[in-house]
Amino acid sequence: MEIRHQLRDQLKRLKLPGLWQALDVRLSEAAANNLGHLEFLSLLVQDELVNRDDHMLNKRLKAAGFGVQKSFEGFDFRFNEEALPASILRDLATCHFISQKQNLVIGGPPGIGKTHAVKAIGHEAARRGHPVLFRTTQKLLAELLSDSAERAERILRRAVAVDLLILDDFAFRKLDQKEAELLYVLAEERLGRASTILTSNRPPEDWNAIFPDLVVGGAILDRLVSSAIKIITTKGKSYRREVMGAKNAPSETPNL
Ligand code: ADP
Ligand code: MG
Repeated sequence: MEIRHQLRDQLKRLKLPGLWQALDVRLSEAAANNLGHLEFLSLLVQDELVNRDDHMLNKRLKAAGFGVQKSFEGFDFRFNEEALPASILRDLATCHFISQKQNLVIGGPPGIGKTHAVKAIGHEAARRGHPVLFRTTQKLLAELLSDSAERAERILRRAVAVDLLILDDFAFRKLDQKEAELLYVLAEERLGRASTILTSNRPPEDWNAIFPDLVVGGAILDRLVSSAIKIITTKGKSYRREVMGAKNAPSETPNL
C-alpha cells in the first residue's frame, strides 16, 4: 500500500493524472496477459497522452463558445445535398482551408443547417489543435463594445488571434459606424493570416445595405468575402421544419 501512496503523490507532482487513472486497469491487464515491462509502460504512457489530448480538446471546445455543440457525427449529409454539397463539407472538414488561411462564406435560407455545419467544422478544427472562436456576429460586436474595456480588449485580442473565427448570422441587421469599424479591424487583421467563416440567411448581394457607408462596407466585404470559398444557395429544405417539426418557423431575419 505504501508504494501506491508514494506513486500517487509522485505522479501528482509530475502532473500525470492519466497514468494514475489507468494504472489499475493496466496492472490487471498486464497480469492477465503476461505483458512485458516495456509493453506495460508503453500502454501507460499512451494513456497519459490520450488523457492530455482529451483535456486540451475540451479546453479548446470550451474556449470556442459553441453553446450547443454540433459535429459531423450528427449531420445527415444527404438531407440538403444540393444546397450544402457533402463533398465540399467533407473537404472543409479536413481543415485544409485553415492552413491556407482561406475564408468561407455560407449563405442560404434559415433552418438548412448552416450553423450546424460551421460548428461541426469548428469542432474538427479544435480536434486538430486549432484555437477557435464561435459567436453570432451580434454577440461578438456587443462583447467588443462592452462597458468593460478590459473585457472588450480581451475578446478583441482573441478574435484577432484564433486560427478560426466563426461569425454566425452575419448581416442580420444594420450596423452603426462603431460596429462597422470594429468589423473592419477584424477583417483587416485576419486577412491572409487566419481563416474566418461567415454564415448568413441573406444573400451576399444584400450585405452592402447593412453598413453605414459604402466605403467601409466595401473594404470589409472585400477582405472577408472576395477570395473566400463560397457556398451560396437559395434552395435547401429547412431541417428545423421538416425533420424537427417546427410548424411555423419564425421569420428569423428582420428586413433591413
Ligand atoms: P441554419 O443555421 O441554416 O438556420 P441550423 O444549422 O441552425 O440552420 O439547423 C436547424 C436545426 O436543424 C439544428 O438543430 C440543426 O442541428 C439541425 N440540422 C440542420 N441540418 C441538419 C442535417 N443535415 N443533419 C442533422 N441535423 C441538421
Ligand atoms: Mg444559423
